[in-house]
Amino acid sequence: MEQTGLKVGIVGFGGMGNWHKDILSKIEGMSVAGIYDIKESQMDLARENGIKTYDSLEDMLKDPQVDIILIATPNDVHKSIAIQAMHAGKHVVCEKPVTLSSEDLQEMIDASEETGKFFTVHQNRRWDEDFLTMKRIYDEQKLGEVFRIESRVHGSRGIPGDWRQEKEYGGGMVLDWGVHLLDQILLMMGDVKLKKVYATLTNITNQIVDDGFTAHLNFENGIEAIVEVGTNNFVSLPRWYMLGQNGTAIIEDWNLNGRIVSATGKNEKDVVPVHTASGITKTMAPRREDTIHIEELPTVSSDIKDFYRNVRDVILNKETSKIKLPEVMRVMKLMEAIFESAEQVKVIDFE
Ligand code: NAD
Repeated sequence: MEQTGLKVGIVGFGGMGNWHKDILSKIEGMSVAGIYDIKESQMDLARENGIKTYDSLEDMLKDPQVDIILIATPNDVHKSIAIQAMHAGKHVVCEKPVTLSSEDLQEMIDASEETGKFFTVHQNRRWDEDFLTMKRIYDEQKLGEVFRIESRVHGSRGIPGDWRQEKEYGGGMVLDWGVHLLDQILLMMGDVKLKKVYATLTNITNQIVDDGFTAHLNFENGIEAIVEVGTNNFVSLPRWYMLGQNGTAIIEDWNLNGRIVSATGKNEKDVVPVHTASGITKTMAPRREDTIHIEELPTVSSDIKDFYRNVRDVILNKETSKIKLPEVMRVMKLMEAIFESAEQVKVIDFE
């Protein structure tokens, strides 16, 4: 394998370690130095693919060829590997969730400050086109004043049957998928303070860690966001649903099927009532077509390779990081508030 520019040592060569290996091969000025995994099968897999393997993490950290350590292990060991790597003089890109608590994260940030090494987190779902499209609708105020945003991912296969089912490895869906959805919603809200958090967890297919959650987030600007992950949903609710004073936007699924429906301002006095078993309703009757305007989504396209291009350019002092550590900390604290709210069945004052 040709090695140029910044060289990355991958720790943990499972699903995500392989993903990083593939994407790094497409980034100019970056390449994979080698991998280390505690499982011999993964080391064999790497060798079969012509990738160098290191006998231990220490061996990898001693190699002066390695500039960056990419951590793609289960969540419980992110912190110790990251701190060890930074003290060995390496920059660190860590998979999400960065670690298991805000205290641990603070130790990682301290290590970055002490050593002067760049430390970032792979919050890759900031590049999801559904999110970027919804963020655009919000930023461009296409719905007028927004008062509610609902963001959901629903599956029906429970938690993957690996370490994600166990607490000591940092399993559960708040840490697995929640970290992405919460990061997205906080990014969309920007500097607006999050005042209140109320959440419930589910344990349908797993009693040890949460296999889903629903979080109600009340922001200072009056927006209520509902963020939900479900793993026992045989019918999925839409991925995104946003309500503003003048209209509604929906993204149904991963394929970005959806639309914006807004009021034309035309008088709606001749509403055709709906007949139900117990009477008629005009209030809940569908809109007449001439009083609404249906638009296609203003879709935004993205390139996930920009994550690594940014990492490279930050290390080369050409750019600032797209993923700021205070943002990562805010998400970590929000996940803690979600656990606390669910455990105590109470509303948490957040900021
Ligand atoms: P995985 O189980 O497929 O792979 C983890 C690998 O790490 C395994 O091969 C295991 O043997 C190895 N490992 C465990 N402890 C180790 C240690 N101390 N040193 C070296 N290797 C070790 O898991 P995965 O799905 O690849 O997830 C890995 C990380 O990536 C997790 O933090 C997960 O949350 C994250 N992830 C992120 C995304 C994303 O979209 N950003 C998607 C999936 C997973």
